[in-house]
Amino acid sequence: MHEEAGAGLIYWHPKGARIRLAVEDFWRREHLRHGYEILYTPHIGKSWLWETSGHLGFYKENMYAPLSIDEVDYYLKPMNCPFHILIYKTQVRSYRDLPLRWAELGTVYRYERSGVLHGLMRVRGFTQDDAHIICTPDQIEDEILEVLRFSLAIWKALGFEDVKAYLATRPAKGAVGEPERWEQATASLRRAIEREGLSFALDEGGGAFYGPKIDLKIKDALGREWQMTTIQFDFNMSERFDMTFVGPDNRPARPYMVHRALLGSLERFFGVLIEHYGGAFPAWMAPVQAVAIPVAPAFLGYGEEVVRELAARGVRAHLDRGDERMNAKIRNAQNQKVPFMLVLGEKEQAARAVSVRERGGAQRALVPIAEFLAWIDVEVRPPTLP
Ligand SMILES: [Zn+2]
Repeated sequence: MHEEAGAGLIYWHPKGARIRLAVEDFWRREHLRHGYEILYTPHIGKSWLWETSGHLGFYKENMYAPLSIDEVDYYLKPMNCPFHILIYKTQVRSYRDLPLRWAELGTVYRYERSGVLHGLMRVRGFTQDDAHIICTPDQIEDEILEVLRFSLAIWKALGFEDVKAYLATRPAKGAVGEPERWEQATASLRRAIEREGLSFALDEGGGAFYGPKIDLKIKDALGREWQMTTIQFDFNMSERFDMTFVGPDNRPARPYMVHRALLGSLERFFGVLIEHYGGAFPAWMAPVQAVAIPVAPAFLGYGEEVVRELAARGVRAHLDRGDERMNAKIRNAQNQKVPFMLVLGEKEQAARAVSVRERGGAQRALVPIAEFLAWIDVEVRPPTLP
């Protein structure tokens, strides 16, 4: 962060950006494999958009002052939803087109008082791993179950197994939307949790005025709970934007809309991820996956060859060209928590091999390069969900 350039705004340096890229690539691939389409939308929108969505009515204190462009006010987006709805409304949608699952890594800006800003955990600009599910009432139960399963599988693949659900229901006052819809939505949330056998707590009356939701809290390696995933119904925006689909009876009907963010914000997720792994990221995320350590300058050339071969296989490999002694280089790589250290000397060069030290301490001498490539290929492959 650079206070002089603005509080609560995050800069991703090369190694952090590497980890984010690995996570984003995994996230996008799995969303596409699970029936989502990916959207990109603008960062600013005219005031009518935010008046229609209701944000200027109930969320204005969290939005930044408008920019005036051609004498019209534009606001930085605090949420992606209205943009997704505009795309929805470009066509007449039939029940046959539904469900739609539209995801976006969308960067949003929200005003937070400077006193509550806190590292990566509470910021003013962040990227949500957002999605909107738009479906018919008949589809809602399966869609919710699908989202919940998908979320749990993502968390597991990222190394978090301890997940607890919180179900927030209709508030006593001010709720919008027909009571039957609230009932159906809440029942579908509850059944999904029960079918997945998740332990959960009921937050009676704790839902937003626009719909019930499930929050998932995950536990990190230190036993701390973090609220990350939200699966939130919205009965408000579908009304305000008059979203419809044509039903089997040829009449317009109101679809269900669900907002969901799995990781929440990438910035905050990264804060939790660093703590969870203590910096020792799984090999598929690690910014540097293998470091080549020549024992003397004479083996720099061989080191270059090894790194080139690894890079050609897509492994993030680095050659330590420093003039410290070998032990200092190994210590340095240990401190950096690099998963694989490859010691290269006379014997290794003669045998076209590498001597491997793993981050966890295991060692294997003189592994032929081809064999190491096959091994690391598996280690650095991102997980694939069922
Ligand atoms: Zn949304």
